[in-house]
Amino acid sequence: MNIILLGPPGAGKGTQARKLVDGRNMIQLSTGDMLRDARSSGTAMGQKVAAIMDAGELVTDEIVIGLIEEKLEGDHGGGFIFDGFPRTLEQADALNDILAKHDASLSHVVAMEVNDKALVQRITARSTCGNCGEVYNDITKPIPADEKCVNCGGSDFKRRADDNEESLRTRLMEYYKKTSPLIGYYHAKGQLVRVPGLGEIDDVAAGIADVLDG
Ligand code: AMP
Repeated sequence: MNIILLGPPGAGKGTQARKLVDGRNMIQLSTGDMLRDARSSGTAMGQKVAAIMDAGELVTDEIVIGLIEEKLEGDHGGGFIFDGFPRTLEQADALNDILAKHDASLSHVVAMEVNDKALVQRITARSTCGNCGEVYNDITKPIPADEKCVNCGGSDFKRRADDNEESLRTRLMEYYKKTSPLIGYYHAKGQLVRVPGLGEIDDVAAGIADVLDG
């Protein structure tokens, strides 16, 4: 089963993808994580995309399509969760072609629906565990007083450079201009399902599970 989690920044795609990895042996393919890894390991590509990411703009289709192509050559496990990819119609067309090359296809495109006010609140208050990726929120789920991650016990917490109001405005604009047309695209293909993205993590996960198992 191969699925796309589609939604604006802060919709909870990464959090839900990690739950699917744990519960279903699926493989999370987050282009955002891949690009951040390229940056921190200092590759030429990582250096090229750093300023674009910090500004909240999209990196070129060519770069992200190349990243995804590479990953699909490897182990397919219980299927792929595309998290943060595709973000443009060109990327969506490329994904169809790459999957077809591997005799694979998309089972569902899950559109996670969250209003803008919640996105701003989530993103500007967000930090993550540098070790396991567990997500915290200053208001709704603060880092524990002993500064140890509830999931792995790690104590290295990070805030993303682009999780500030200015970058977020650009990221939201990029989403509405370039990514939200994918909702119509996948609806027309009969692959789109909408799931409420607000609420408790487990409730959202249950909504997604209903779609996948239904
Ligand atoms: P994310 O972690 O998915 O929010 O992505 C962080 C940043 O990485 C985005 O704001 C973009 O600059 C870049 N990025 C991630 N995925 C893509 C993609 N599919 N297409 C273009 N840029 C991307």
